[in-house]
Amino acid sequence: MQPKVTRKSAKQLLNKASGFLQGYTHTLNPYSGCAFACSYCYVRQMPVALFHDGEWGGWVDVKENAAALLERELVKAKRKGPVTIFMSSSTDPYQPMEYAERLTRSLLEVMAAQPPDFLFVQTRSPLVTRDMDLLELLGPRVRVSMTVETDREDVRRAFTPAAPPIPARLRALRELTARGIPVQATIAPVLPCSEQFAERLAGIVDRVCIDDYFMGDGSKGKRTERIGVRSIYDALGLSDWYSRDAYARVHEQLLRYFPQERVFVSQQGFLP
Ligand code: SF4
Repeated sequence: MQPKVTRKSAKQLLNKASGFLQGYTHTLNPYSGCAFACSYCYVRQMPVALFHDGEWGGWVDVKENAAALLERELVKAKRKGPVTIFMSSSTDPYQPMEYAERLTRSLLEVMAAQPPDFLFVQTRSPLVTRDMDLLELLGPRVRVSMTVETDREDVRRAFTPAAPPIPARLRALRELTARGIPVQATIAPVLPCSEQFAERLAGIVDRVCIDDYFMGDGSKGKRTERIGVRSIYDALGLSDWYSRDAYARVHEQLLRYFPQERVFVSQQGFLP
């Protein structure tokens, strides 16, 4: 499904970070809405979605004045102290339309010229590799966190049919690593995966983060229950993975292949 695209002029781009992201000074969302429409996405229950027409995944608003706004806001914010930015908290900065829009790229251009103290780029799209030239300029001030919830494509298709395939995300992580850009594979939320998942990741990245609904959805799993994600597990015959044990199982697997200090759990993995 192609989302309905609307161009809007945003009033503010850098927003004060809070809650799960309180380790940051600001969050930054180049778009509103998200074409990936992940089944478990709890943003659909947040005001940004509740007060917008249309189903979550069916619309994306482009903040067309974003770069000019960021340029001004960044100067102001930096005058007040260190600036640490989480991009993005309620969308993916690499929407499919970003191929043509180059909106996130324009924000990276602004940040390459006036670097924040730290930028965390959270995405599930291999398109992030297009911007490696700009990410490189940020050096150790950036980390790209690539969501890889599972290594099973059948599972990925069941939970997030509109999201990029897992092999493409793993290739992107390889490319970013080869260019020396700090990365993390982010297993969030952990989905049913193979016994080889940790071993596969260990050949590509040296830092992982794992999270689940019960730690990471901001309501100890209640939001996820309301969204009805459980039914996907049931339909796949994988109901035993809809539990706190799933995280523990995969965490144990990760510790066999990564040093403990490179395995981050829930909020710890998203801090600057
Ligand atoms: S990519 Fe992120 S913001 Fe977009 S639908 Fe999926 S979980 Fe939600």
